Amino acid sequence: MLGFTGNRRWVYPKHVDGVFQRLHRASGILLQAFLVLTPWITIGGFPAVRIALPERRLYVLGQVFTASEGFTIVLLALTAAFSLFFFTALFGRLWCGFLCPQTVFLEEWVRPIEHLLEGDRVTRQRRDAAGMTFDWAWRRAVKWSAFALLGLFVGMAVLSWFAGPRALWTGQAGPVDYSMVGIIGAGLFLDWAWFREQLCSYLCPYARFQGALVDHDSLIISYDKNRGEPRGKGKASAQAGHCIECNKCVDVCPAGIDIRDGFQLECISCARCIDACETVMPKLGHPSLVRYSTMAADEGGKTHVVRGRTIVYAALLTVLTIGIGYRLWSHNPIELEVNRTPGSLFATDEDGSIRNTFLVHVTNRDMKEAHHYAVMVHGLEGVQVIMPPLELQPMESRTVPLVVRVPGGSVDRTTNFEVEVRSEETSTQAAATFKAPPKDGGAK
Ligand code: SF4
Ligand code: SF4
Repeated sequence: MLGFTGNRRWVYPKHVDGVFQRLHRASGILLQAFLVLTPWITIGGFPAVRIALPERRLYVLGQVFTASEGFTIVLLALTAAFSLFFFTALFGRLWCGFLCPQTVFLEEWVRPIEHLLEGDRVTRQRRDAAGMTFDWAWRRAVKWSAFALLGLFVGMAVLSWFAGPRALWTGQAGPVDYSMVGIIGAGLFLDWAWFREQLCSYLCPYARFQGALVDHDSLIISYDKNRGEPRGKGKASAQAGHCIECNKCVDVCPAGIDIRDGFQLECISCARCIDACETVMPKLGHPSLVRYSTMAADEGGKTHVVRGRTIVYAALLTVLTIGIGYRLWSHNPIELEVNRTPGSLFATDEDGSIRNTFLVHVTNRDMKEAHHYAVMVHGLEGVQVIMPPLELQPMESRTVPLVVRVPGGSVDRTTNFEVEVRSEETSTQAAATFKAPPKDGGAK
């Protein structure tokens, strides 16, 4: 086990190539393209995906969700969480090995840069052991500068999802945005220059959940003990198992573990050890001793894809998907919020009418067309509604005063009613409360 307070054993993963490393590269290219290019895509003039925090809006493929639709956002978050549980129950830590940004950046940038500047495992070990020579210092300075620049670039790509890429890359975003880029860049630099595999072992909550999410039937990377043991150094013999103890599977491991010791929480399923053993075993006429398997299969049993937890996760995902589908289908293009004007309860006019004043906040969620809005009030007898005309451009929000008058003595001290805002095509309602003096008189 590695410690990160003083007793850390630095890991020097050896370079390895193979089928799974090529898969890494392919998935890494796709994911990085997704990260960098997605914020630039627009649909009908609006971002395809944007988390606009100041406006409290989430843009997703032509739909916009506002803070008042927190329930839909919760459904989306739950769907993402249960998808990960479902995926992990079936495929183990495939996410960690091939899709997690930590692995992608370490495998696609950090290790290749390090390999280029400082050499492979043994050379890096020798250089570090020699201490702070000029050769060590200039290589370290160039490497860290490259990590810092890359960290800032990734920070810009991440912030583009929030602040929009155009403003950010043309220097027109605000100081808070650029500060966030700096914070993300600094965090990534520290991770790449020092923290690395410790993030997976100690900090990542998903890694912490592994014990609960992975079971005997989940896909894991494992060493075939039956074939490999008893291992023997040098050439395989009739008595020895197939493992020749070349240690290649250990040398390439970015988590610093020995897969031959069995399933370990530090293993991120990157499959580097499979590719390493593939460079040895086939030359001796055997398939790799490290391969994808399940604990059930390793114990000689049958692997069950359909089992209790996969059925429960699939059922929950189905319910959540239906819920999201319904919310999208019934998505109202008008957002309405009605609040009493601060500090006002009611007023009595000269003719005895009771007047309440509200602030009506309306958002036109239609991303293409402007709309006129009419306001109606339901649930109050003899009501008179006074509100300025309201026309909103696509995605515009405005707060306007709404005066509601009723004849004196026609309502109780507290009466609930509905405010309806209607466009040419649709309408939405919000609840409000009318306040009045006691029927025997009195005004505020
Ligand atoms: S044991 Fe193999 S799959 Fe697990 S982290 Fe190490 S190299 Fe990757
Ligand atoms: S790479 Fe294969 S042969 Fe070499 S030590 Fe690991 S399991 Fe044994």
